[in-house]
Amino acid sequence: MQRKSAKNKISVIISRLKRRYPEELRTWLHYKNPWELLVATMLSAQSQDAQVNKVTPALFKNYPNIINYLNKKPVNLYPYIMTLGLYRNKSKNIIKAAHYIHDNFHDRVPKHMEQLVQIPGVGRKTANVVQGNAFELIEGIAIDTHCITVANRLFLFNTNNAEKIERRMMEFVPKDEWINVTHLLIALGRDVCTARRKYCENCVLNDLCPSSTVRK
Ligand code: SF4
Repeated sequence: MQRKSAKNKISVIISRLKRRYPEELRTWLHYKNPWELLVATMLSAQSQDAQVNKVTPALFKNYPNIINYLNKKPVNLYPYIMTLGLYRNKSKNIIKAAHYIHDNFHDRVPKHMEQLVQIPGVGRKTANVVQGNAFELIEGIAIDTHCITVANRLFLFNTNNAEKIERRMMEFVPKDEWINVTHLLIALGRDVCTARRKYCENCVLNDLCPSSTVRK
């Protein structure tokens, strides 16, 4: 898609998606502070938010603060999160993240992208989610697997590289919509534009989308 036409199209796309998914303009992950959001977001990799929300109440009750993780081993977290995929790796990264934040940021989750992405297990997607939702600070667009699927169909990016998609979307999505566009593309990806199948006949963007199967 040409950059100019993408810019023209994006405001229509965003306003239609806001009308269609008005409840989706926030993260579905449950959290009470930036650390809980960071942990929940790390747990959500390749897991559904609803599954994560089932396990985090017990985890956060027993591990309320970063310091509670410091003298623990990954195996100590297994009982809480073993219903999630990749739980061994996630446990390891959460413990490492707690140590890193304890050692470098006095037990407070940092706000800035260059600090967040230094934390073990934290990439740009997790950093964007934490920044945007916990600190209302926006330095990028969080791109998850739903966003990759939908953005490739809508904008014909032809790449599965989340960072490339993020950079390209930052060129034409207005900055005040960077948080919203993530939630809206995820909503579309869960509803009608799933990785397995697209239900273009039920999609509010079918007249705008180059990948639509609806005859125009
Ligand atoms: S029209 Fe079809 S391919 Fe395009 S975004 Fe909607 S569901 Fe996805």
